[in-house]
Parts: sequence; structure tokens; C-alpha cells
Amino acid sequence: MKQIFTLLALLGALALQAQNTFIYKTKNAEIILLSEGQRASNLNNLIGATEEIIEQTAPEKTYPGATNAFLIRTKGKNILADTGHGRELFKNLEQHGVTPEQIDAIILTHLHGDHIGGLVKEGKVMFPNAKLYLAETEYKSANENALGILALYSDKMVLFEPGDESPVKVIDEVGAMMNYGHTPGHTVYFIDNLIIWGDMTHAMAIQMPYPKVAISYDTNPKAAVESRLKMLEYIIKHNLTAAGMHVPYPGIGTLKADGKGGYIFTPVK
Ligand SMILES: [Zn+2]
Repeated sequence: MKQIFTLLALLGALALQAQNTFIYKTKNAEIILLSEGQRASNLNNLIGATEEIIEQTAPEKTYPGATNAFLIRTKGKNILADTGHGRELFKNLEQHGVTPEQIDAIILTHLHGDHIGGLVKEGKVMFPNAKLYLAETEYKSANENALGILALYSDKMVLFEPGDESPVKVIDEVGAMMNYGHTPGHTVYFIDNLIIWGDMTHAMAIQMPYPKVAISYDTNPKAAVESRLKMLEYIIKHNLTAAGMHVPYPGIGTLKADGKGGYIFTPVK
């Protein structure tokens, strides 16, 4: 009996581990999901989700949530897109044979704790060889906690202005566009046919069919909705695949308009 439980626990652990990572290939890069965890989220924080919307999209009063970072491997470079909380990050990187010292660049979408938590551990810089890319507008809005973390990277920071109508190149392989609203300088990144949209969505099950629903974590919910609608159109127009920091496993998928002002997100396989 005991062996059966051990076996079940092992299988469970393997299943969990399998949800930790996923590799998507673009023309010039591998985009690797580094999951910090998957969990069911409640609806308390949604803004503008009517009873009708909830009935249709989340009748169980919960939706699948996740926290992700991504590793971009391209032309011999290791680029990290956000760092998650830093809970599973280092184990996940190790699984792909990458040490923190081998990270060449970190592109930050914004300065919330679930995106910059992995930059520092016990007051120590975790990525000693990485340049840190951040929108200047976001830097200017940083709170004390974020400023304290960024100060440790002060000699490695690259501040830039993301593009408004099209991506501006920040690293040879990576472009950036503004997606202000979730935070004052929330930025999305592009590599080949892929957009990494950071926190453009939190509740995929609700915000894909109803992209006008916001969330209380948005600094400016109205601006977040406008930016989301604009970027979703851009994604469709340019036929991009999308990866997101709160998109459930595998964290990457394709989009299609549903003809009713919403979108259908299909996870890649
Ligand atoms: Zn977040």
C-alpha cells in the first residue's frame, strides 16, 4: 500500500514538473516557459465582469491562473523575460542547463513583485552578467521596493522608450512596444512572430471573450482595457503567436477574433 502511495506521489510530482516548462520554436529562437506555478484564481478582483459574463465564462466562480517567466534562447544568447517571484525560476533554468551567470539580458515588462522577484535573493544580485532592459516610464513610476532592487543593477540598466504603433528594437533580436495601463510603463516584447505580452491579461478565461473586463491590479483599469484592445487587434493583424505571464500552461497560444468583440485563444501544442 505504502509503495502505491509513493508511486502516486511520484507520478503527481512528475505531472507537476511536466507543467513547469514548454518549448516553442520561432524562426530564430526557442521560447521556453519557466512556470512559477498554476492555480485556480477567484473572481474577486475582476472589474466589469457582469453576472452574465461570469455565468458564461466562469460558472464555477474560479478561473485557471498562472505565473510565468520565459527564457529566450537565440543566436547563442540567453534572454530572460521577467523573473517571476524567483521561487521556481532557478530550478527551472537548471533543468534547461542554464545558470544565472549565463543570462545575458533580462527584459522586464513591469515592476510588480511577481515579475522582478527573481532579480535579487537576500539582497544579492542573482544575474551578475545580465543587462536589464526596462521602459523609462516604468522606471519613473517605481516604488521604493522596486527601486531598491533596481539599484543593485544600476550599472547594468538600459532604459528605453518602447514603440507606440510598432516595436522599437531594444536588443538585436527583440523589439518593444508600450502597453501602458496595467502599470504606467507596462511593456510588451516581440521576437520573430511571437509577442510576450506580460500582464496584458490576468484572467484568460474571462478576458479573452470579454477583453473589456479589467482587474484591480491594473494601476489604470481604463487605460489597461484600451491598451489591451489595441494590442489584440495588432496581434491579429500581424498574425502573431502570444505568450503571457499569467496565461495558464503552456503559457503560449494563437489568437482568433470571435466576431463578437472578443477573442479565442488556442494554446500551442
Ligand atoms: Zn503579474
